[in-house]
Amino acid sequence: MADDLGWQDVSVPMHTEATALNAQWHTPHLERLAAQGTVLTNGYAAAPVCTPTRVSLMTGQMPARHNVTYWTLHHDRDTSKNHPRIAPPAWSKEGLQPGTPTLPKVLRDAGYRTIHAGKAHFGAHGTPGSNPSHLGFDVNIAGHGSGAPSSFLGTHNFSAAGKQMANTPDAKPGRPSVWDVPGLDAYHGKDMYLTEALCTEAINALDAAVNDGVPVYLYFAPYAVHTPIMANAKYLQRYEGLHRTEAAYGTMIESVDAALGRILERLDHHGLANNTIVVFTSDNGGLSAHARGGTPNTHNAPLHSGKGSSYEGGTRVPWVVRWPDVTEPGSRIDTPVITQDLTPTLARAAGAVFPADHPLDGADLRSVLKAGGVPTRPLVWHQPHQWGANGPGIEPFSAIRDGNWKLLVFHDGPRVELYDLSEDLGESNDLSVERPEMTSQMLQQLRRVAIGTGLQMSIDKATGTPIHLPSGTGGAQ
Ligand code: CA
Repeated sequence: MADDLGWQDVSVPMHTEATALNAQWHTPHLERLAAQGTVLTNGYAAAPVCTPTRVSLMTGQMPARHNVTYWTLHHDRDTSKNHPRIAPPAWSKEGLQPGTPTLPKVLRDAGYRTIHAGKAHFGAHGTPGSNPSHLGFDVNIAGHGSGAPSSFLGTHNFSAAGKQMANTPDAKPGRPSVWDVPGLDAYHGKDMYLTEALCTEAINALDAAVNDGVPVYLYFAPYAVHTPIMANAKYLQRYEGLHRTEAAYGTMIESVDAALGRILERLDHHGLANNTIVVFTSDNGGLSAHARGGTPNTHNAPLHSGKGSSYEGGTRVPWVVRWPDVTEPGSRIDTPVITQDLTPTLARAAGAVFPADHPLDGADLRSVLKAGGVPTRPLVWHQPHQWGANGPGIEPFSAIRDGNWKLLVFHDGPRVELYDLSEDLGESNDLSVERPEMTSQMLQQLRRVAIGTGLQMSIDKATGTPIHLPSGTGGAQ
């Protein structure tokens, strides 16, 4: 589970054709995985920011249902940015907590060793859920309540104080930061990139499980390529000529790919490749606003916008699955799939069972992966929060995709947009007025999902009451 890795941030084409961005980045190990498995060209993250998607993988539920609809940090603080007219509803700002069934919990019950390596960001600091060990993982490597590292460098001790001292050696030692990466003391002071340290520790934990003769669930979540965008110096030469930030970004992508390569090699070494499902994906669309080089909102082209957005750039991400005897080597599947589908898929493949009273929104993908099955349910995104950066579609919204149709409801208004993704992948031609029947039908579908999941709309600041989700009975509103 890469972090903030966009749909075009890999050298494997996710679009119908290879793009200039595919040519710019270098992910040979993902190319190998794609050649051995299948590329899901319409693969989505459950949400346009980190925590909701990660909680969806853990629980198998869409954010509208699990209600961790935004990124978390401190248990008593709402991280949502202020919006002039609307406010978030009562969401779970503490994040995921013990007591809720999770994928690693049910896998552990089925005999698996469950290993977390890297970014957790499931539950807020000051709560039990901040520690992945409380959420079903036997092993926790460097995971806690924060969703970014102070630094990617071992020479900085992966800490803010270390980074400050490296830049201004005469300064007084800085204080610990909530973003400092825990648990990697063995690498402090060493010339070691965070992604590499996490991979080494993950492989050590994998080796230990193999030596103990137990099956393994490894959740490798390498913090990269989230900000701070910091270069892994050993790969920089390849990106000469690019904008400085984009060159550093390229080294972060390549570091993630190198870690994938080491894990695949280790599976080969142990003779486990033919008996292991490997999934490569990302928790939200690529950052395409502040902190990136070049023109904002173009980094996921031909998709519109990026991280935080309701548009495709916010949620469509790389998806590659290698599943021996299920996926056809080198195949491509266009069926829309989403993060929470992985939860029942992996659980059932492992013979693990969720409690009957825990609703799962995800679909078991085995038949889709085997034969490119037909989509049978709409996908829904729901983020009643204002995210930190500005850009197209970055505002409180709910959205639904059914077949090639995608409908967006922006809570401020509310306003409705409708797109035919088969003709308009870049979401530039709003058809909500031209196609009132389709708009109405999609609104009704969204309404049904909203009722079924307990989806909560934004609050109108003027009245203190929830924004009305358009009913869809009167056409576009
Ligand atoms: Ca993320």
